[in-house]
Amino acid sequence: MRVIIVGSGAAAASAHDAILSSEVRATVTLISRESDEPYSKVALPKYISGQVDRAKAFLARPAATRPDTGDARPEFTQLLGTTVVSIDRAARTVLATGPTGRAEVPYEALILAVGATPSHRFGQPVWTLDDADRVKALVTEGKTAAVTGGGFLGLHMATALIRAGMKVTVFERERQILPGRTPPRFADFLETCMRKWGASVHTAALIDSVRKAGDTWEVSVQVRGHAPETTGFDLCLDCTGMSPDVALARDAGLRVCDRGILVDTSQRTSDPSILAAGDCAAVAHTSGESRSAGLWHHASVQGKVAGLVAVGVPAETPPSTGWHTFAVSCEGMAGTADSVPAMPRVACSFGDLVPREGDRVLESGEPGGDYRYAVVRGHRVSGYFQATEPSGLGGLIERLGETAAGLDLSVAGYPGPFSVITAPQALAPDPGTGKVMVKGRKE
Ligand SMILES: Cc1cc2nc3c(=O)[nH]c(=O)nc-3n(C[C@H](O)[C@H](O)[C@H](O)COP(=O)(O)OP(=O)(O)OC[C@H]3O[C@@H](n4cnc5c(N)ncnc54)[C@H](O)[C@@H]3O)c2cc1C
Repeated sequence: MRVIIVGSGAAAASAHDAILSSEVRATVTLISRESDEPYSKVALPKYISGQVDRAKAFLARPAATRPDTGDARPEFTQLLGTTVVSIDRAARTVLATGPTGRAEVPYEALILAVGATPSHRFGQPVWTLDDADRVKALVTEGKTAAVTGGGFLGLHMATALIRAGMKVTVFERERQILPGRTPPRFADFLETCMRKWGASVHTAALIDSVRKAGDTWEVSVQVRGHAPETTGFDLCLDCTGMSPDVALARDAGLRVCDRGILVDTSQRTSDPSILAAGDCAAVAHTSGESRSAGLWHHASVQGKVAGLVAVGVPAETPPSTGWHTFAVSCEGMAGTADSVPAMPRVACSFGDLVPREGDRVLESGEPGGDYRYAVVRGHRVSGYFQATEPSGLGGLIERLGETAAGLDLSVAGYPGPFSVITAPQALAPDPGTGKVMVKGRKE
């Protein structure tokens, strides 16, 4: 069996591992346009802040022989710095261009693990290790940095820059940071924490333009409908979002939508010999929509399924309820017990947190204490959020119907005023009904 994996991120690495761990004899070719060995994007903020060395970003490489039997692993070729420019589905080949020119590479199964493309409109993106090298070279203690976008990535990067001693300003277009990811009150609480930790945070701040003039980034912003004002920064990071990379699949005639390459529960695209996994794939969600999760753990789980299915081993990705499930740690924030209460905090959420007309919102506790929030649509809990102390997270997830196995809950490993830990399988739905257990009731 000849398998090509396009990409070298979480989904690609996990697909490769799954093929190696299967008993199937396969020849694997991994093609990535990046010239670096496969690495973890999750490590980039820590690399930029100086908490870890560049070397720590690289993923462990599979051994050349099987540890159990000592047998040679299936043949593996890695073409780095090489871009797949097209797929010929009839001939089952991909056209790749790289340092040695153009080549047609044949496949029996093809795995697209091509990730997503960041916006490049509002500053320097921080999406690849190359980007991180570029940003790191500009990080200087005492200098100013703007971060456009107050979502997960923006806050993660703001934290990294604060740690590195920069004076950070965050601009978020919506009326709260983490829009759609946290209830407004918890977002306000986090914003206060970010401020106490030294960041300036502007919400309802619409970026008009970002321009590089010499060494200065000129950021023009309309705050709360006022006329645009331009401020110069020593660095400006674009964290305004990313879109699933569907171009290769679309040009090959596969079914795609703006939320990703459409796949079934076995990660198969509309062509059964081509699979897609990770940020590029739109997978089934319990809400009925298909969408890309944009998170590391999801990419790994989907990559594993794609790898197994590519070599003929049946596997399925469970419908995702967890694309919203995450934890934040506010550990390490400056502040006294009364100014920043009950630190550190973690939070876990799933579903749709933005109420629609006619929904009921249930809220209890304080964001600095044990805080819960639920959106109830008809008789169904459509979104749930809870913040607690780190040691409470395991219990929280268990209460929500999770077998905590396999989750990385090591909050201590993610210090900083804001960092993201994914616990995406935390809310696996009941396989019989596809519904999620909340507080002992099936909704
Ligand atoms: C700075 C940063 C921090 C993050 N932190 C977290 C976090 O804390 N928790 C979390 O869960 N998630 C985090 N994420 C998101 C997470 O890293 C992604 O969800 C995950 O990397 C997706 O993996 P992937 O394999 O789908 O795609 P990627 O890792 O993006 O890999 C795709 C690869 O395919 C290559 N490629 C694309 N097109 C082609 C082509 N035509 N030919 C050849 N190669 C191609 C790309 O160059 C890239 O190397 C973070 C992301 C960033 C950028």
